[in-house]
Amino acid sequence: MEGDQYSLAKQELRRQVVIIGSGPAGLTAAIYTGRANLNPLLIDAPTDAEKQTTPGGQLMITTEVENYPGFSQGVQGPDLMVEFRKQAERFGTEFLEEWITQVDLSERPFTLVTDNSIIKAETLIIASGASAKWLGVPGEAKTPKGFGGNGVSACATCDGPLPAFRNKRLVVVGGGDTAMEEATFLTRYASRVYVVHRRDKLRASKIMQEKAFRNEKIEFIWDAEVAEILGTQEHGVTGVRIRNTVDEEHFTLDCEGVFIAIGHKPNTDLFKGQLEMDEVGYIKTSHRTTATNIPGVFACGDVQDSVYRQAVTAAGTGCMAALDAERFLDHLPVAMPTGEEVTIEGEHLSPDHLKITLPSGEVVLNQPE
Ligand SMILES: Cc1cc2nc3c(=O)[nH]c(=O)nc-3n(C[C@H](O)[C@H](O)[C@H](O)COP(=O)(O)OP(=O)(O)OC[C@H]3O[C@@H](n4cnc5c(N)ncnc54)[C@H](O)[C@@H]3O)c2cc1C
Repeated sequence: MEGDQYSLAKQELRRQVVIIGSGPAGLTAAIYTGRANLNPLLIDAPTDAEKQTTPGGQLMITTEVENYPGFSQGVQGPDLMVEFRKQAERFGTEFLEEWITQVDLSERPFTLVTDNSIIKAETLIIASGASAKWLGVPGEAKTPKGFGGNGVSACATCDGPLPAFRNKRLVVVGGGDTAMEEATFLTRYASRVYVVHRRDKLRASKIMQEKAFRNEKIEFIWDAEVAEILGTQEHGVTGVRIRNTVDEEHFTLDCEGVFIAIGHKPNTDLFKGQLEMDEVGYIKTSHRTTATNIPGVFACGDVQDSVYRQAVTAAGTGCMAALDAERFLDHLPVAMPTGEEVTIEGEHLSPDHLKITLPSGEVVLNQPE
């Protein structure tokens, strides 16, 4: 990226730590790096109804959060995120509400471009989250336009235990591992779980399929698509209209809840070709740390987590990313996905800790003189 071509009428900001995303992961990273006197700059996309973004991340679009530790009576998602943000502000986090349109991670300081700014970052913490995929059918939108948050959910772990779904008939849409996991999990609470799948066989792995087939509470509805989610604002979801994909016949299935489990899309388009990702687009990290394949770039929260996808795990990895960035800026080695440890000076410590490769290429033993 040529620096000058972006400089016209844009302010240039230089920071030790830049964080992308103000969900639980990004704000936790901000709290920690703020308390470490690193004056983090946190950039988050503005509210955009079409792109479904809002500062505060995914919890801004939910109601009751019952499983975030420290709130014995539960907490409203938006209220929780206001508290996260105030805590980050208290320790000096600076906020910029703009879309990042381009990044260049080929050299440090890394360059980030928004409509109004060019930002140079010594370390970058990516916490841009993920978005659930939706069906796009009538009745699915967030209440009051549809029944989203009033019987329709994309997260069984988050919403399955809520009273609204206990001893109720629930529909899970999807045929992959996530759908099988969500259906199996929901049988703890539901009276019956219908898995609606558009083909006559599942995409899920053999072990996940078998677990679901053996579960007496789960019933499969094959060659079927949810064409509409039915209900009333007063009672929430009352059923789904199903279209048979073979004979095009429609029928109504009564139920009180619908869980969409057709996958998630990590918000990583910006980093394609620069950071290592899995086949879906989740950023690969070291697991021991939040380091990506580029020294000084760390990733935390849902953007690197296709498994747990919870606010508390996002916050946990946000803390890890902050500590990793602090360590890197303190010239200490940070474990990379390869198992090597790398310093800000470019020294590479071998996974067995026996050798150091210096930036010149010279290899020395990691032993006291
Ligand atoms: C409806 C719903 C209910 C949920 N309920 C619960 C629950 O009860 N309990 C629980 O633990 N979890 C729940 N979750 C899951 C939880 O919300 C997520 O695991 C958590 O928010 C992930 O946090 P994060 O910080 O990684 O990312 P996110 O919360 O997704 O935040 C990422 C932020 O980055 C911004 N961003 C993305 N790209 C860019 C860009 N290019 N430039 C600038 N900004 C960008 C986004 O706009 C967003 O604000 C729920 C999720 C949903 C959708």
